[in-house]
Amino acid sequence: MLKNDSELPPRILLGPGPSMANPRVLNAMSHSMLGYLDPDFMVVLDEISDLIARLYKTKNLAMAIPGTGSAGMEAGFSSLLEPGDKVVMCLYGHFCERMFEMATRVGANVVPIRAQWGEPFPEELLENELKNHPDVKLVTAIHGETSTGICQPLENISSITKEHGAMFMVDAVTTLGGTDLDVDKLSIDYAYSASQKCLGAPPGLSPVVVSDEAMATILSRKTKPYSWYLDLSLLANYWNERRIYHHTTPVSMMFGIREALNIIFEEGLENRFARHEKNAEILRSGLKSMQFDLLGSGKSRLNQITPVIIPPGVDGNEVADQLLREFNIEIGKGLGDFAGKIWRIGLMGESSQTEYVFAFLSALESVLIHQEFPL
Ligand SMILES: *Cc1c(COP(=O)(O)O)cnc(C)c1O
Repeated sequence: MLKNDSELPPRILLGPGPSMANPRVLNAMSHSMLGYLDPDFMVVLDEISDLIARLYKTKNLAMAIPGTGSAGMEAGFSSLLEPGDKVVMCLYGHFCERMFEMATRVGANVVPIRAQWGEPFPEELLENELKNHPDVKLVTAIHGETSTGICQPLENISSITKEHGAMFMVDAVTTLGGTDLDVDKLSIDYAYSASQKCLGAPPGLSPVVVSDEAMATILSRKTKPYSWYLDLSLLANYWNERRIYHHTTPVSMMFGIREALNIIFEEGLENRFARHEKNAEILRSGLKSMQFDLLGSGKSRLNQITPVIIPPGVDGNEVADQLLREFNIEIGKGLGDFAGKIWRIGLMGESSQTEYVFAFLSALESVLIHQEFPL
């Protein structure tokens, strides 16, 4: 049994999240409480909103809503869709299937388009399917599928969606702050992310952006969203100048994400994206030189997660456990169809550091030697 804090081990988090939190963020979170309507706290909220909008490259309404990435996902589905509304969903991984599940729970008329996991989604499938659905209201996609290591190009999906007059919803949980995402250029009506992946903060907030069209759609609903807590119009009334109390704001998390966003702009977006790219490249070449096969190829590779195929004869769980126990390094395991077949090495936000890549590669080597695997 752990008796106190100091007995909890420090870990190097190289999984699918949470990733490491910047110490400046943790410090900022220790600020004493402010009330959720304190005028000085309102200044903090406005700053956060501006910084989130800058990060998403949009003029749309930006908020940090309580909960993790899945809360952002659920706020989107429950607010944008009413029972019977048609949503066409591009599905190519575990988190896409979570979106499918949520849309189904709303009672929407869900049209799934399932494609091969580990490959970019073939946009022609969407083009063909939409011809059958002139009444489509919403199209969904994931920018970075963390379960398969795919960074989905969004330009064509966006233009096909807009040609059919639908709204476009994007999961940016793994990519925001690590890969460029231009919400206005891509005409994204709703995007959501999470504080704990590429932003360098602990889990607990979901930064979201909502277009005017999306908000107008929500305000003209015939039925109320099934979720009161995640109703984007109620949340917006606190973030806009009306400042209407909705729930007790997680104040410390707000201090944390504000610092995290400031750190991101101190580094510079281009530098940050380049750092994610460079460290992923070092990791991939290190793994390849150890004769590992990686899932996926080419430019649709996600820099935030590198899926490694577990070679025959290697006990994947044992390797992950040993890395954790002996080297304090956490890596991710496979999800869904990929359970037991791959490891997922995450290099997100604060965790994307060259020294961690080398620490991981040498720890992996020593664990495999221990397992008498010929390297
Ligand atoms: C992690 C993740 C989620 C879920 O986010 P939580 O913060 O765990 O709720 C959703 N989508 C993608 C692509 C993710 O990587």
